[in-house]
Amino acid sequence: MAEKIRALNKKQLEVLRQKLLDEKHSLVFNDKVAVVDLGLALPDGSDEVEQSITDYTNSHLLRFRNREVFYAKKIDKALKSFEKNEYGLCADCGCWIKFERLLARPTAELCIICKEDSERDESSNFSGRQSKSLGRVVDLTGMMA
Ligand SMILES: [Zn+2]
Repeated sequence: MAEKIRALNKKQLEVLRQKLLDEKHSLVFNDKVAVVDLGLALPDGSDEVEQSITDYTNSHLLRFRNREVFYAKKIDKALKSFEKNEYGLCADCGCWIKFERLLARPTAELCIICKEDSERDESSNFSGRQSKSLGRVVDLTGMMA
């Protein structure tokens, strides 16, 4: 039987809310870094090799930024759920997500059981790969913070 998980207490909620705010702040910081990198990558001539490097860098940064925008939206969604007192509720089964899981991934919308179920379903298609690459972005953000 699954162990019974209690709702998060006030102190835990405050820790997680602060973590979300920190993550959001680190995304804005990363955005500034990306703009600086972009400036350095601009070629001064019309050299084809340099141009293709710039194109590569731009598309790479664009993809990175799109992921950040996506992650920022998830953070905003999580912060909004605080106002409705719904933060930490699994979007699928409605049970409380464990504090330890939220600490590792404060934007988690599913409990670990539902998450594992959905990963099994998605493992053979593209959206499964997408959610895994998002996980890498999250880890990177944590490292840079
Ligand atoms: Zn669940």
